[in-house]
Amino acid sequence: MAQGHSIDEYLETIYFLAFPIGEYTPKAGGALPLASRVAEMLRVSRASAGEMLKRLEAEGLIERGEHKEALLTATGRERAERVVRRHRIIERLLTDFMGYTAAEAHVHADELGDTFTDEMIERIDVRLGEPERCPHGWPVDPAVEQAENHELAPLSELEPGARATIVRLAEHDGDLLHWFYDQGLEPGAEIRLESAEPAAGQFTVRLNSSTRAVGERAAAGLFVRRAG
Ligand SMILES: [Zn+2]
Repeated sequence: MAQGHSIDEYLETIYFLAFPIGEYTPKAGGALPLASRVAEMLRVSRASAGEMLKRLEAEGLIERGEHKEALLTATGRERAERVVRRHRIIERLLTDFMGYTAAEAHVHADELGDTFTDEMIERIDVRLGEPERCPHGWPVDPAVEQAENHELAPLSELEPGARATIVRLAEHDGDLLHWFYDQGLEPGAEIRLESAEPAAGQFTVRLNSSTRAVGERAAAGLFVRRAG
């Protein structure tokens, strides 16, 4: 592994898998935070992910469940929540203060990693006016995020004809994130699901007066609140 992901990036990924809405909901045990899922999300080999999970386990940040899935310990969860909060504040620094687009902010925030100390993050947060959400709609406060998860569903779970408002965008895939913005599928957009053919991985969404063809991966990464 030429350039490895940090412990914090692994924790962030496991956190995302641990508090699922939609795509990552454990269905038939197929989407637990297993080494294979973590590897897929971080785009590393299964072996690299397995090695790193061992290290996280040795450091007391995760435990292994009965299916070998990675479960955050209390310490691991606390650190993971700090990591995601920091990431979201840095994204707002990049968009609000540095002028980057929302689509660009995620990758740059990852690059900055733990450049800033916790104290600097708090100062940035105050200067930014304590923003409630990252540019992609994820609450800065992980407690708010977890409470809100129950109110949201991925677009792929709506029934045809349903109206909804986009609340959050999956942001771990940079290309997909850019595509969302190119299509105008951003937080706050009001949409209507025109047709859904999950078997073929095809969804059609109406946004304003035109329609968008949305593939399965994108439909699973658009988290919406149903209207009414
Ligand atoms: Zn974000």
